[in-house]
Amino acid sequence: MTRGKSIIILFAGLVLLAPVLETFQGVEHETFLSQLGKNFGLAGFMLLVFQVFLAARIKWIERPFGFDILIRFHRHMAFLALGLLAAHALLMAAGTGKWEFIFGLDLPFSIWLGKAALFLVAANILATSFQTRLKIKFERWRAGHDILAPAILAAVFFHAFLGVGEDVLELAAIQAHLALFTTAAASLYVWHLFLRPWLLKRHPFTVIDVNSEAPEVWTVTLAPPEGKQVKDYLPGQFHFIRFFRGRGLPVEEHHWTISSSPARKDSISSTIKNLGDFTSTIGETKAGDLASVHGPFGRFSHVLHPQEKDLVFFAGGIGITPLMSMIRYMRDVQDTSSILLFYANRKENLIVFKDELARIEEEGYPRLRTVHVLNNPDEGWQGETGLIDEKMIEKHCNGNLEEKGFYVCGPPPMLQSIVSSLLDLGVDDKKIRIELFSFLD
Ligand SMILES: Cc1cc2nc3c(=O)[nH]c(=O)nc-3n(C[C@H](O)[C@H](O)[C@H](O)COP(=O)(O)OP(=O)(O)OC[C@H]3O[C@@H](n4cnc5c(N)ncnc54)[C@H](O)[C@@H]3O)c2cc1C
Repeated sequence: MTRGKSIIILFAGLVLLAPVLETFQGVEHETFLSQLGKNFGLAGFMLLVFQVFLAARIKWIERPFGFDILIRFHRHMAFLALGLLAAHALLMAAGTGKWEFIFGLDLPFSIWLGKAALFLVAANILATSFQTRLKIKFERWRAGHDILAPAILAAVFFHAFLGVGEDVLELAAIQAHLALFTTAAASLYVWHLFLRPWLLKRHPFTVIDVNSEAPEVWTVTLAPPEGKQVKDYLPGQFHFIRFFRGRGLPVEEHHWTISSSPARKDSISSTIKNLGDFTSTIGETKAGDLASVHGPFGRFSHVLHPQEKDLVFFAGGIGITPLMSMIRYMRDVQDTSSILLFYANRKENLIVFKDELARIEEEGYPRLRTVHVLNNPDEGWQGETGLIDEKMIEKHCNGNLEEKGFYVCGPPPMLQSIVSSLLDLGVDDKKIRIELFSFLD
């Protein structure tokens, strides 16, 4: 059995353990509805506890699925937990006839805690789903998310445990199960938010070069702490970087693809575009500045599909970075795979890595062919123009799509349009791999 399947089975087993124990060992409930309501509550509780495990960047959980899939799963589980907790409240009220628990005001403290948990989960989901539309700054959203998580866990925990001894949470095995995993989640939370960042800051990387690649795009190269090598990573993976630059510049953690080749062990680079308030300060980074680096993460890498030797890459703007890491790695290990790269930009002067791509194309490792596509070219541009569509893909692939593997990284509208073009052309969706530069979209 693969590690991914084992993790899924373990996850489902641990979420369902308390409801199963409650059904077969717990005190008999007055009605089927209240029994069901209690089981929904227990499963919702465990789902919330595991939200911390899903978001805490635990590598052995992330590796089989990829960070983006894990974060998407985390979001789906938040909706499921909300549904289970809401159903729990309604079923308990319906099963016991105590509708005042829903509508009344003169209620035991534990019931208020349950209501608070439900409200906070709903608020957290709404803020996450509408972060962009509500114009909540990412950092503010993240700070709120980080504060709400322990508040929600504390509220559900005490909602459940204040009932101990009052025929509510009577089974010692269930108490132990809930208490053990809540404690583990709380410890993990402290590790993820405080201890690990502190440890990473104590062993910082040093910026050794900042190179301007194109207007508003810089490659920042970092050397590992003295005596250490760069950790192994796959070409196409990303890491989290937090710069400590002083000079009043902001300290925030952001994820960027590792654009360098894993064949280099003495340094690691990210190529960063000014896309907002933090990245507008990247050009002010200087050699000698410090940074903590956490990674690598992600599964967007040709190395994970070694049987595929005929690849088509689609990059939109700064979406070139993971594909460039793969191409550079193939160059360094003299891989003779065939790569057709569609690289879309607005104008010629915005093309990042143009000269290096041309050099790699000449040298022949990998067998690269780059098709630059500009959607707003200056006069005299001889190459492709407009948007990448089915016709353009067919033309450059010579109609032969079956044996190829496809990698797409770019802005969401480009990504959607290319994936739907590929599907329309009959490409198997398992052969299309995508990388999104935002986990909230
Ligand atoms: C897997 C992955 C790989 C990436 N690789 C690259 C790359 O190689 N080069 C590059 O230029 N950009 C890359 N990005 C995008 C980069 O993370 C954002 O451009 C950057 O975080 C924007 O920060 P900002 O404060 O300047 O912009 P803002 O305008 O504040 O944010 C724009 C959007 O970026 C995202 N974002 C902002 N801050 C954070 C944060 N601290 N953590 C997570 N997301 C945040 C949010 O979705 C936000 O809505 C990558 C993103 C992901 C998810």
